[in-house]
Amino acid sequence: CGASPESCNTSHRKHDLPIHGVSETIVGVLGGGQLGQMLCQAASQMAIKVIVLDPMENCPAGALSHCHVVGSYDDSVTVEEFAKRCSVLTVEIEHVNVATLEKLEQQGLDVQPKASTIRIIQDKYLQKVHFARHGIPLPKFMKVNHQFTMSREHYYFLFLKMIVENITMFDRKLWLRQIDDPESAKKAGDLFGYPLMIKSKRLAYDGRGNAVAKTEEEISSAVQSKIFASVNNLELHHNTFLVSSIHANDQATLFAALGGYDHGLYVEQWAPFVKELAVIVARGRDKSILCYPVVETIHRENICHIVKAPANVPLKIRKLATNVAYKAVSSLEGAGVFAVELFLTEDGQILLNEVAPRPHNSGHHTIESCFTSQYEQHLRAILGLQLGDPSMKTQAAIMYNILGEDEVATNLTGLICYRLSCLQGEPGFLLAHQLIGRALGISGATVHWYDKPEMRKQRKMGHITIVGPSMAIVETRLKFMLNEELLNGD
Ligand code: ATP
Ligand code: MG
Ligand code: MG
Repeated sequence: CGASPESCNTSHRKHDLPIHGVSETIVGVLGGGQLGQMLCQAASQMAIKVIVLDPMENCPAGALSHCHVVGSYDDSVTVEEFAKRCSVLTVEIEHVNVATLEKLEQQGLDVQPKASTIRIIQDKYLQKVHFARHGIPLPKFMKVNHQFTMSREHYYFLFLKMIVENITMFDRKLWLRQIDDPESAKKAGDLFGYPLMIKSKRLAYDGRGNAVAKTEEEISSAVQSKIFASVNNLELHHNTFLVSSIHANDQATLFAALGGYDHGLYVEQWAPFVKELAVIVARGRDKSILCYPVVETIHRENICHIVKAPANVPLKIRKLATNVAYKAVSSLEGAGVFAVELFLTEDGQILLNEVAPRPHNSGHHTIESCFTSQYEQHLRAILGLQLGDPSMKTQAAIMYNILGEDEVATNLTGLICYRLSCLQGEPGFLLAHQLIGRALGISGATVHWYDKPEMRKQRKMGHITIVGPSMAIVETRLKFMLNEELLNGD
């Protein structure tokens, strides 16, 4: 199947399907990133047909899917058209057009997990309110009255960006009008103390919506930096819309759409965690729940860097973490796998950070280390098949994320701009390829390369999972792969 809606074979409709594999259902996935790619890999082993909707022609899942429709999962007409081709619709990213999913659900489409769940989760503040109501332990949180509006100049900048590729950062301060109420954030600071975590409610990923204010004086700059980050995310998620609008030359519509989202912020009390843990929870259509072993996630600059499975914590903590994760997922509607991110505090408390309604980075290791991978489990769950065994078949596993390295500053027609990306053959890619080369020589290591055409700093480009008979052995193998003996002399 080709990469555009036109070339996609429209005869694959639910009514004229031949029975294939374990289910004749066509699974539609909103999003075609690496999670979608690994979902397609699992689906292909089970002979389940998956079609994906993603705006990037060369998205990671595209080549492995039964059909890739090029289009925005945030555009209602595109999502509605896409939905006509599937019998069950799921997501690999939560930043989708949820109003359309709700409408489709009312018309009888099978959306898993339910649109109500995606609505709660895609707004972090709503998510926190929901879990607090269900008695889930959380860091304290509070709404802040910070909003921004986009100036006409910034709107023109977006057009410029479409014309000149590779410009991803400008000094936008000049171009944003802001409605500020720092007093409300300061009130939260008085109540919660410092450091204070400031978060974007929506469109956050890889920590890009977060800013830390260490003191009251830092609140203003932290808030500002996040308002700009929101604009960055906005561009990312509206790429397709921007392109079509340029063609339509419908500037007023574009401006209205960009301004129409709530990019407000909220504030969280700092969680003094000693470890970050995560639990993948699978929930069947019959509401039966199975939990994967608790893992430890190690973040670098807010991005998941390493996952250790199982987590090296006492049994009591593992039970507590599993119970919190179980309770959190029980409070949501629909089937699928969910990832529950948790903080372990010094005094042995477990606090929930956030939930993802889909397979997750913290569950990549399950492909090699568990009887049923999170991807296969997600398909089983949404299709109403029997859930598989989530337990580990190896003693220990470590997942290492290959993150983008490169950053190149360039100067274009005298404007201050930066190029934060590199292409195949440039230094960032070469470093990653060297790492992969070393991984191939490590016993128990499996390489996953997402084949993204462009590398950006801190972008997830691939991962390597190493399994082995003990955590000590797997750690040694990781060190060897990273050449750390040579660097540290140990
Ligand atoms: P992703 O979706 O990629 O996991 P995100 O952008 O949604 O990331 P969060 O999960 O909210 O961001 O936060 C990223 C990281 O920031 C956390 O894993 C944790 O290390 C840190 N963090 C988040 N909230 C707090 C908090 N209240 N106190 C201390 N650290 C925090
Ligand atoms: Mg998140
Ligand atoms: Mg997170």
